[in-house]
Amino acid sequence: EEREHHNLAELVNEVIILLESQAIMKSIIIETNIHEEDLIIDCEDTKIKQVIINVVKNAIEIMNKGTITVEVGKKDRFAQLKIKDEGPGIPRDVIDKIGQPFFTTKKEGTGLGLIISFNIIKSHGGTVEIDSEEGKGTIFTFSLPLI
Ligand code: ADP
Ligand code: MG
Repeated sequence: EEREHHNLAELVNEVIILLESQAIMKSIIIETNIHEEDLIIDCEDTKIKQVIINVVKNAIEIMNKGTITVEVGKKDRFAQLKIKDEGPGIPRDVIDKIGQPFFTTKKEGTGLGLIISFNIIKSHGGTVEIDSEEGKGTIFTFSLPLI
């Protein structure tokens, strides 16, 4: 495993470019708000990119149209990455299950994207928070220790 210093905003920008065409096909806009340009984290860049891809893909899959907002900011000694969608939200009883392997509500889902993502964040010393409101959308907040 190879960890190096990476700029979180750069990782976000590199990944969002790859997801934009999928979003546009569904009339979804991906907005990025970079509040802090120089947040450096010690990470395996491919792993953190995988997290962003998994979570933004879920948002694209669950929305019909609207905006996905990806925010990069700072809180205390942590870089914060927020991914907000305008999907249906996650019902209470489902929220406890989405971090479990193989839980999926999709016909062809694997139910592995989120568990893998959460484990990547944890292995980097970070935390995951989920705020969801039915009918309004979901916010995933990932906090990663700054170097
Ligand atoms: P998969 O995408 O293969 O179903 P994931 O681990 O990525 O597996 O997601 C598990 C489940 O969590 C999804 O099937 C869906 O029910 C729920 N989920 C994930 N992201 C969202 C979201 N942004 N809004 C609502 N539900 C979500
Ligand atoms: Mg998924």
